[in-house]
Amino acid sequence: MIKYKPADSQASPRFCGVRTFMRLPHVQTVDDIDFAVIGVPFDTGASLKVGARFGPEAIRSSSIILKPYNMFLDVNIFEHCSGVDYGDFPVVPGYIEDSNDLIEKSLVPLIENGVIPVLLGGDHSVTLPELRAVAKTHGPVALIHFDSHTDTLDKYFGRSYNHGTPFRRAVEENLLDVDHSIQLGLRGQQYQPDDLEASKRLGFETMTSVEVQDMGREKVIEKIHNRVKGAKAFVTFDIDFVDPAFAPGTGTPEVGGFTSAETLRLIRGLKGLNMVGFDVVEVIPAYDPSQITSLLAANIAYEFISLIALGKKIIC
Ligand code: MN
Ligand code: MN
Repeated sequence: MIKYKPADSQASPRFCGVRTFMRLPHVQTVDDIDFAVIGVPFDTGASLKVGARFGPEAIRSSSIILKPYNMFLDVNIFEHCSGVDYGDFPVVPGYIEDSNDLIEKSLVPLIENGVIPVLLGGDHSVTLPELRAVAKTHGPVALIHFDSHTDTLDKYFGRSYNHGTPFRRAVEENLLDVDHSIQLGLRGQQYQPDDLEASKRLGFETMTSVEVQDMGREKVIEKIHNRVKGAKAFVTFDIDFVDPAFAPGTGTPEVGGFTSAETLRLIRGLKGLNMVGFDVVEVIPAYDPSQITSLLAANIAYEFISLIALGKKIIC
């Protein structure tokens, strides 16, 4: 019995009602649900442009266009899954360590109860407390990291916690099964020649944007599967993986990236992996005048939910 599903858009037009993700009911529950969509509106871990605190709101607004049947994965989500819009986790603007604690504490009960979270950032610093909560139940997880940046700096402005450092901290805190983790789409200019090497030294497999583009989608998908294998995996998607032509609404855009079409096909290629959580981060509506970035982020979250549903469909 599927308890929670979106409003019926044949009965109430999709522009009606209070905005939730995909018109799901806004219920803060861990019972009778397979997944929860959650906003994490923290953005003072950002190094350049801020405003990702308004990302969840914009993604929700864009998500009203989504419909339950994913023809490319052949899955009708709400035949297999119950899900809610859980609302936003509390944060303290400007205070990253306090916010990290609140995010972790808020996510723990969902993970403990087997709910798969689909989190909407926020800047990329929010993934560290998410991984802390995930590791409490699952132990270290494989990271599938789409980003133009490694986010494995040691310090930024002399500080340990911000959106440039979460994955180094995650390795240090033993939250990641780094031997099964991969970073894809890396590009842009580096502070130093060995910034990419630093990620490799931590144990990550890395692929630059050029390596992904030259290898081709099918082989890249195969590479991800070979790397992650049966490990429990967390998927983190920084919207700046996508080219700024398709996703201008972000804080540290890097040219030479991926189209929205390539992006969605890569994500669908994750089907069959054992994924325990997802996030999409770094959407800044103030730089997104036509709402194309939030529309893409909503579609990325939709593909994540489709993958959850597909996992349930195959088990049944
Ligand atoms: Mn990032
Ligand atoms: Mn990035």
